Amino acid sequence: MLEALESAGLEAWLVGGWVRDALRGAPCHDVDLCCSGSWQQSKRALEDAGIRVIESGIKFGGITAVALGERIEVTTYRLDGFYRDGRHPESVEYAERVEDDLARRDFTVNAMAWHPVRGLLDLYGGADDLSRGIIRAVGDPRRRFEEDALRMLRAVRFACRLDYIIEPETARALAECAPLLTAVARERVGVELDGILATGRGGDALLRYPELMCEAVPELAVCRGFDQHSRYHAYDVYEHTARVLTVAGELSLCSEDGRTPATAPSATLMWAALLHDVGKPECFTLDESGNGHFYGHPELGAAMAKRIMHRLALPSELIRDVCLLIRYHDRPLRPERSSLLRMVNLLSAGTDDAARLIELLFDIKRADTLGKAPSCFDYVEDIERMRLQVRALLGAGEAYSLKTLALTGRDLIAAGVAPGPEIGARLGSALDAVIDGKVANETAALLDYLRLR
Ligand code: ATP
Ligand code: MG
Repeated sequence: MLEALESAGLEAWLVGGWVRDALRGAPCHDVDLCCSGSWQQSKRALEDAGIRVIESGIKFGGITAVALGERIEVTTYRLDGFYRDGRHPESVEYAERVEDDLARRDFTVNAMAWHPVRGLLDLYGGADDLSRGIIRAVGDPRRRFEEDALRMLRAVRFACRLDYIIEPETARALAECAPLLTAVARERVGVELDGILATGRGGDALLRYPELMCEAVPELAVCRGFDQHSRYHAYDVYEHTARVLTVAGELSLCSEDGRTPATAPSATLMWAALLHDVGKPECFTLDESGNGHFYGHPELGAAMAKRIMHRLALPSELIRDVCLLIRYHDRPLRPERSSLLRMVNLLSAGTDDAARLIELLFDIKRADTLGKAPSCFDYVEDIERMRLQVRALLGAGEAYSLKTLALTGRDLIAAGVAPGPEIGARLGSALDAVIDGKVANETAALLDYLRLR
């Protein structure tokens, strides 16, 4: 594509994330080219070389070229900002030189261009920052965050993803400019927060950049420094949350057997970890011996999480699952079949995927435990034992819900029960009996148990 553009007399470079990831020796998921020509000139040059072109973003000088199964964005050199979420500018300011296009980019590691013949164009020390693991704003960080406050969350997302630190002056500007985030559309904040959590290092984000994270989710601000007055808790609510996020992230970054490759963190688990205790400050009471309690915080937390996640325009299935995990994260669980199956039943409300959710519930319980005081850590053994028990129960096809019961309303009608409320009541008592281990989950056995045979 570069050749096609340049043999038509244009100048083109690979830019942005591709250059950064190539220099890190990391795989990269999208390729961006920037080019001196207008989109019409680029389009003509590519099509003349037999390359298919889609007019994807012509309002702001962008087209997509497709070849060999790759889609590559080709954008004209520009002076103005970056526009997402369809709010494209009325007019676009084009630039003469690639240098100007690089100057508008956010961080030094994202502001390099590369060409197979002309080599690396690195005006801001991006390669150096890359080798030292530093995220640094291009130019004056305060001005850059004032221009586009979303860049602050992007800085944290890149720092978490690459496990880099944010250069001190950029970090200072981030703390000072954090209130500017209120001007950013909440759904864009939601996308970036989700990106931060997806790195599995959301705990670092909370601990290192609290001002910004508390602007992104203002409900976290009251958790900061909130003393739990409990011997089970070594940390305040905010630091506890950060630790739980860190452990939850590590659960996915390190596989169970330590050998199979790590999987991407579950978004459900990450959001649940972030928000599991947001209800605590409002539920706090102190008893006469000076111990803190948080009665009702899981229910309140689930309701708050729903509001927060709606505001951030996150997908509704994600919100539903996160709220279930938060609601039950603190519910006592015993290593007995009835206790375990009742919990799976609670998690099956509104989903078909209780088997996945119960695994995540054990994950959040484990992470929650390891974010408390060391005297609580033994409980992890119980959690893991219960996890294995549940796997065995579900593997054996034990019922935990009306859906998984080997008896239906139709079976009852065929056995002579009158349609109506009676059916629900009978199914409920059959399910209870199966969960309590009084009868096998088999149609005939269940009919016998109900004295219908
Ligand atoms: P990712 O792997 O997350 O896609 P990326 O670097 O490709 O990383 P994009 O959001 O795809 O990030 O943006 C591509 C490039 O555009 C960035 O590398 C950066 O140079 C520039 N960029 C994107 N958004 C902004 C912004 N808000 N402000 C300044 N530059 C930006
Ligand atoms: Mg990209």
